[in-house]
Amino acid sequence: MARYGYVPFMLIGLNGAGIAVAAASAPKYWLLAILAVAIATAFLVERIIPYDPEWNHDRADGTRDRIHVAVNETLILASVAAIPLLAAIVPAPQLWPHNWPFLTQVLSAILVADFGITVVHLASHKIGVLWRFHAVHHSITRFYGLNGLMKHPLHQTVEMAAGVAPLILVGLPVDVASALALAVAIQLLLQHSNADYRIGPAKYVLALNEGHRFHHLKWAGIGDVNFGLFTLVWDHLMRTFSYDPARRFDSTQLGMAAKPDYPNGYLRQMIHPFTRSGGCTLKPTTAANHTTDLPAPDPASKYRSDRLSSFGDDQ
Ligand SMILES: [Zn+2]
Repeated sequence: MARYGYVPFMLIGLNGAGIAVAAASAPKYWLLAILAVAIATAFLVERIIPYDPEWNHDRADGTRDRIHVAVNETLILASVAAIPLLAAIVPAPQLWPHNWPFLTQVLSAILVADFGITVVHLASHKIGVLWRFHAVHHSITRFYGLNGLMKHPLHQTVEMAAGVAPLILVGLPVDVASALALAVAIQLLLQHSNADYRIGPAKYVLALNEGHRFHHLKWAGIGDVNFGLFTLVWDHLMRTFSYDPARRFDSTQLGMAAKPDYPNGYLRQMIHPFTRSGGCTLKPTTAANHTTDLPAPDPASKYRSDRLSSFGDDQ
């Protein structure tokens, strides 16, 4: 039941409740209550059906990750609260389709935000200055729900701005933004979940954990796949989609091969991107660079060695 019911409960049940609350312009604390239910459910299901029981155990990272979540979730909520202020200076607020059903408005906002966030995410794996800040998120070696908000707040701000700016420019209403913010939080919990849930063929379209584990493989270039936040539509179009049903993951394959000693503490992770060692080596990568670090050849693998990137071992 948890295996098949978890995702529909979160994606349809809790998002549906959030959309209903937002559509009724109910007090925003109801959305916070739904978010609390989502986080509690995420932790519970990870304990009922863990993909890797080891990933449920704190590695002196639990407190740090809670700080990441508190900081980044507060930033998201503050951004939503700032939308009415931004509305005063947007050039064409009358463009927003207020007459559409509220559900359609939210789903459209999700699709537009998904495009901007996905493009910046891909760029963060290709452009050195963005990678410095995104590397915080890729330092994880256990894959669980809170990883979604385990990122540098500057990087989250750039990513979210790219997703939401086009919507704000056409007059995104704050109620739609509230439902979108909840949907982002729920998506991040599901995308990085340690729960061994099943979604059938939807895994080829929705950017959930089965596909996202490939994104966290530690080898340069090999993890440059499945960039989508909500959907994998853009990955299919950009030819960055990768999936292999036979693949199993463990901690030795996650993180960053070139930065196994990435700083662990919250403050050090905030500062590291600004330091000399926080960036890329910018040296070209060839398959030969990876022969000692790559996993054993897997005949069923769909990894594409031609995806090895030009940003060296730092990706
Ligand atoms: Zn990434």
